[in-house]
Amino acid sequence: MKEKNNISIDEYILNFDIKIQKKLQDLRKIIKEEVSEVEETIKYNMPTFMLHGNLVYFAVFKNHIGFYSISDTPNIYIEEFEPFKVGKGSVQFPVDKPLPYELIRKIVRYRVEENTERDKKDEAKDLKEQCLHCGKYLPKNELNKFYEGLICKTCYNLPKN
Ligand SMILES: [Zn+2]
Repeated sequence: MKEKNNISIDEYILNFDIKIQKKLQDLRKIIKEEVSEVEETIKYNMPTFMLHGNLVYFAVFKNHIGFYSISDTPNIYIEEFEPFKVGKGSVQFPVDKPLPYELIRKIVRYRVEENTERDKKDEAKDLKEQCLHCGKYLPKNELNKFYEGLICKTCYNLPKN
């Protein structure tokens, strides 16, 4: 027996009438076309697509499909968002209008870039050690062993009070 919050995306989609189902399947198809390695899951009762963390997700409301999560400053022409209501990190696609396929593809591609960049940064950070004094992450050879831990050259050379 499956728990309610553990349903699949297919089961989620089946909750809606056939027109909405078609739209949701289209949306899902576009996402998977853009990111073949994307992982599907349900989070907070919403179909969620993951690549290096949450990539995009959607939810059905009475009159629109909410599509998340858009960065505060997307590198996408703002005019393309103009026909739609934009909320915090989301855009609303009216259920009675065709989905803007190209805009969706751009959002997905943009989110892939963002998540991949963040992932790379995290990896680089993992290879480094933190200076005890200023908190900067630096390669090990730029840090000196101090009696209570590691300290960077800049902090090491600060005049002592
Ligand atoms: Zn330091």
